[in-house]
Amino acid sequence: MALTGVEIFKLLPKTNCKKCGFPTCLAFAMKLVQRQASLDACPDVSEEARQKLGEASAPPVRPITLGAGDRAVKMGEETVLFRHDKRFVNPCAFALEIKDTLSEADINSKVEEVLNSEIDRVGQKLRIDAIALMNDSNDTGRLEFAAKVISAKAPGIPVIICSANPQAAEAAVKLFGDKKPIIYGVNSENKEAMVNLAKTYKATLGVVAKGLEELSNLTEKVKALGIEDMVIDSGARKAKEILEHNTFIRRAAIKKNYKPLGYPVITFTKRQDSLVEAMMAVIGVAKYSSIIVLSGIEKWENLALFTLRQNIYTDPQVPMQVEQKIYKIGEPNPDSPLCITTNFSLTYFIVSGEIENSKVPSYLAVMDCEGLSVLTAWAAGKFTASKIAQFIKESGVENNVKNRELIIPGYVAILSGAIEDKLDGWKVTVGPREANGIPAFFRSRVSQT
Ligand code: SF4
Repeated sequence: MALTGVEIFKLLPKTNCKKCGFPTCLAFAMKLVQRQASLDACPDVSEEARQKLGEASAPPVRPITLGAGDRAVKMGEETVLFRHDKRFVNPCAFALEIKDTLSEADINSKVEEVLNSEIDRVGQKLRIDAIALMNDSNDTGRLEFAAKVISAKAPGIPVIICSANPQAAEAAVKLFGDKKPIIYGVNSENKEAMVNLAKTYKATLGVVAKGLEELSNLTEKVKALGIEDMVIDSGARKAKEILEHNTFIRRAAIKKNYKPLGYPVITFTKRQDSLVEAMMAVIGVAKYSSIIVLSGIEKWENLALFTLRQNIYTDPQVPMQVEQKIYKIGEPNPDSPLCITTNFSLTYFIVSGEIENSKVPSYLAVMDCEGLSVLTAWAAGKFTASKIAQFIKESGVENNVKNRELIIPGYVAILSGAIEDKLDGWKVTVGPREANGIPAFFRSRVSQT
């Protein structure tokens, strides 16, 4: 059970020395409960208390890292059931399954698909994160060969070795020994051998069971053998089971601090067809899977899943923002148009994308409105005539544009007169309401001249 603030307080030195940065030990205890402070901040806590508190203040879902270097994927560390309670911490990873029964050429082409999956969306790089190498052949030599092909083609890619055969798993995992792989397939028969492999190759173990009860018994046994880093699979393969099991696991970990299920969940979707598989993956993204192994990836599917993941794992309390400044789109000159918008990331990327589509080199003034979109910022009094005029004056953009014309979003047409009053010598033009009207808007200006 998690300790309460008062229980934690009783274990602290109670000197109120403030070395932790909080005015009292009680204030620090409350921050520990909310997981907004680290116990390391108190230098005077006793070893006994540290042991008790260390466990109590650890996140209910154990943090795990898959892979190493700049492709490493963090997972777990979650502290809430619902995103609006605080935020979800580590986005789930997507892995593509590659069977060791495939030919070398087919393995290479699957790896290529993974490497080419990266897209840029609202300034973030999104991609298929890992490969799950499946020992479908049940043959050690074939698994080893497939692992060699993958490590040669994509040496930095995080890998999940899926085999219940410790000998085969070792033949593959030794190729990724320094890359923090996952060895998936630990069951009650092979657990001792798999634990030895995990210790030798510093790997995380993927524990699989038939049902939640067997799963929690098994993780306790693996832990007793000396392994803490695990991902867990309850054996759920149907949509209903994935939803039920994942919810049960997360609820047990967060609400009851039930350690045997306090690990990131790995989910395998089965490709009946790509649409069904995408729907199963959606359930995993929305409901608590930390790794989703897909049996195939297509660009439309990736785009939908990446977008969903990005939205769910965005902190709802922190609007996504871009820097306030005058952006150049293309190579504008002193006669180029100057548009203005707010610094909400999505607004910026959509507006700048449409200006790019129009092929009219332009300046885009992006004003800091604390990450709010145009209408919300206007309603909140952050995108007003005075503030816009002040920003334009202070930005120095006057030195870049000859025509002194400012194009404002159609949604705030009401501000045009007031901005002109405050910006001496400037003309304000009302642009389209929606960004997708920008290319037609620019075309109509050209045809009028
Ligand atoms: Fe209390 Fe430790 Fe903070 Fe000092 S540093 S106020 S003893 S919690």
